[in-house]
Amino acid sequence: MPASPLSRRDFLKLGGIALLATALGRVDLSQADTPPTPIFYHGSRRYPRIALTYDDIQLVTRLHMLENILDQNPEARITLFPVGNALATVEAKDPGIWKRFYGKGHEFGYHSYYHDNLAVYKPQQVVDDYDKWLDALAQVLGEQPTVHFARPPYDIISNPFMYMSGQRGLIPTLFSIGGGGPAAFVMNAIRKYQNGDIVQFHTREQPDSQDMTTTSQAIPFLNSRGVQCVTLSQLYDDVLRDQINATGCDAGAGQSLTRTCLEQ
Ligand SMILES: [Zn+2]
Repeated sequence: MPASPLSRRDFLKLGGIALLATALGRVDLSQADTPPTPIFYHGSRRYPRIALTYDDIQLVTRLHMLENILDQNPEARITLFPVGNALATVEAKDPGIWKRFYGKGHEFGYHSYYHDNLAVYKPQQVVDDYDKWLDALAQVLGEQPTVHFARPPYDIISNPFMYMSGQRGLIPTLFSIGGGGPAAFVMNAIRKYQNGDIVQFHTREQPDSQDMTTTSQAIPFLNSRGVQCVTLSQLYDDVLRDQINATGCDAGAGQSLTRTCLEQ
């Protein structure tokens, strides 16, 4: 069974704690205003779950390809990191398309509004950029979504980006397997998966970057190995369960015990 999703309160409380050091890397933020925040590279190695994630998503045609693949694999869940300016333009070409993904249980994460390198922004500008992105997402979804994860453009972890993540209670997220390349090449990496891996794709489908073709092969392959494709929230929940188990509480006992153990 997939792990139960965490509440926003859990994420806000847990996002900055040091408990996660075994699975999460760190950056030097000695010059920053906020304390170091763990970066989410991969989930627990204990549970057979993997997160497929998709950045940018400016082309409606590629999003349709992804939608078709997911329709053929209805158990799979993914996480989308669309840039803000793609939300409205894609929506205009196929009204309701984002809502369809959201309604089927897929997750959304922040990837900036304009796909700028956020290292050149002032910290508050990134916070404003996130708020603008979230407004655009809420607009196309027709409701206020819960967002837990943020991935910076170009995978550049910077102090302004980390400041925003702290301000908005988001988990800075990278990946452990990179897509982007011929399907045979990327599938070779996916066949060597470890439990808890985060795969970074883009919704590209050109000869040199066949992420849609790769996705259509990766999901059945992972399923054949008993691996579930889950959202980042589900993967993160497994990390927290591991840490709770390590500190003496019973793992897998659900949200209420999660809170009780961590509040002691
Ligand atoms: Zn990107």
